[in-house]
Amino acid sequence: MPNASFEVLPSNQPMADEIRENILKNPGFGRYFTDHMAHIRWTGDAEWHGHQVRPYGPLTLDPAASVLHYGQEIFEGIKAYRHADGSIWTFRPEKNAERFRRSARRLALPELSDEDFIGSLKALLAQDHQWVPTPASASDECSLYLRPFMIASEAFLGVRPSQEVDYYVIASPAAAYFKGGIAPVSIWLSSNYKRAAPGGTGFAKCGGNYAASLAAQKEAEAHQCGQVAFLDAAENKWVEELGGMNLFFVFKDGRLVTPRLTDTILEGVTRNSVLTLAKDEGLTPEERPISIDEWREGAASGEITEVFACGTAAVITPVGELVTENERIRLQSDGNNEVAMRIRTKLLDLQYGRSEDKYGWLTQLV
Ligand SMILES: *Cc1c(COP(=O)(O)O)cnc(C)c1O
Repeated sequence: MPNASFEVLPSNQPMADEIRENILKNPGFGRYFTDHMAHIRWTGDAEWHGHQVRPYGPLTLDPAASVLHYGQEIFEGIKAYRHADGSIWTFRPEKNAERFRRSARRLALPELSDEDFIGSLKALLAQDHQWVPTPASASDECSLYLRPFMIASEAFLGVRPSQEVDYYVIASPAAAYFKGGIAPVSIWLSSNYKRAAPGGTGFAKCGGNYAASLAAQKEAEAHQCGQVAFLDAAENKWVEELGGMNLFFVFKDGRLVTPRLTDTILEGVTRNSVLTLAKDEGLTPEERPISIDEWREGAASGEITEVFACGTAAVITPVGELVTENERIRLQSDGNNEVAMRIRTKLLDLQYGRSEDKYGWLTQLV
């Protein structure tokens, strides 16, 4: 349905200005939601239809809806940024739209066009633009986090792709991921669990991958680590990524290495952007397999000077150490992270409109 416009059903109980402004002062992450949500419905016989922006609220779902039983679900994560002139922008939404279709194909869900994906963000923001926080300074990384997702809603317990599907976008104001500055995180290397296997769903952004990572996340927390790193399932040797972030290694000679994409690694939009920005910084990006042994030896010899993780929510986060059952891998150049912080600032300056958008990565929402 090209050029579908969204019917707007305005909320009759929008949040009072004063309460919303209070929330925006300290929104945390993923705790508060805006007044509306976007919705598009799909059925096997009518394709995508019924484009709406309607009041945010609980869904009515049949208890037999297949998403509740077989987990047929995908999602995206993307942010809206307020620029100094008050306008609101998002970052490379066509990359998220493309990935959403890739995820849809893997989970046997219907594909959504760029037009509907980006259109749904614009339609929602047209109503809820007041929920996009205004940064107080260049170090204030507040934004409105947008969460598009698609669920199988047909009431049927047979195992086959659902013939009824719903797509929604909800939005949640977000403060900087790390309060009080960016401290390097400790990462737990999971040896009991794998995130993804060849032929599986690792490259798709689906709820099931996250459900499967939670036991490893609990293990990490028991070892005072904030995140989990996963090795490949076939050889238990190659570094893949974290539960929800891609990994980069900075070498002393200026190489910037990240694991090459396979069907067990999720292609982050941040990862892709870092690879481009790195070249501007005079670094030499390399996408290739990197083993846990190379990490250990590079850290010990000083060959690897920094490790960082990246994703939309936390932007770029330095990794301080890798913790396993029997060792702690720490870099010699402890606490520097100069390259990670330089790329981080470049990326944020672009997203918040403080530097020239020379790659055409920004799309105006409002
Ligand atoms: C979402 C996600 C990322 C990061 O992707 P971005 O597009 O950069 O936010 C990395 N790994 C996994 C497993 C993810 O789900």
